[in-house]
Amino acid sequence: METRLLHIQERIARAAESVGRDPASVTLIAVSKHQPLDALKAAYDLGHRHFGESRLQEAEPKIARMPADCVWHFIGNLQSNKARKIGDLFDVVHTFDNERQLDALRGSVEGLIEVNIAEESQKGGVSPVELDTILQKVVQCPHVTYRGLMTVGPAVDDPDAMRPFFRRLREIRDRIGGDWLSMGMSGDFEAAIQEGSTHVRIGTAIFGPRDRAL
Ligand SMILES: *Cc1c(COP(=O)(O)O)cnc(C)c1O
Repeated sequence: METRLLHIQERIARAAESVGRDPASVTLIAVSKHQPLDALKAAYDLGHRHFGESRLQEAEPKIARMPADCVWHFIGNLQSNKARKIGDLFDVVHTFDNERQLDALRGSVEGLIEVNIAEESQKGGVSPVELDTILQKVVQCPHVTYRGLMTVGPAVDDPDAMRPFFRRLREIRDRIGGDWLSMGMSGDFEAAIQEGSTHVRIGTAIFGPRDRAL
């Protein structure tokens, strides 16, 4: 895990520098869903602090057992009946996409709106045309500091095939405002960084395959 984490950090730096960006402008979120606590602790011992989880019931015991200076990013489907607790436990929520989540929220989080950039059916996130409405709600919500946009994007084999989607998300963000762009995963984070990503969410390339039993 140590060599994989260092290697990913190096690749992030090189991707940023290739387009004249400061590597420090990209935050690496280690996506630790379905990974054992020991793996998170090992990353912590190497100095890593940002972790991404997608299910409340799995994240809760991990957050309780990890040191308090970790930064927890919620990247899963945000059910409104769990929003209150998620707002209490997490520092950043990447997946706002409806009003009910905001009404149920408590605590205070930094928030991103998830955009279904390729308008795929069955996917979370708002379509780009619905964005202005939810943006208003997020900005008005007293429990959220609005930061920007997030997308998962369609599964494609070739990272370059993702570029048009990454570029489109950045253009939308440039239009509506916000400093952050959460895009790029294990298979395509370099392309995402070249297109302006500020937060890459990387799981398997750091920790190896996920254990579905966890
Ligand atoms: C699981 C997950 C990731 C990480 O995926 P990898 O391919 O393992 O890097 C990133 N973002 C979201 C929203 C996820 O659910």
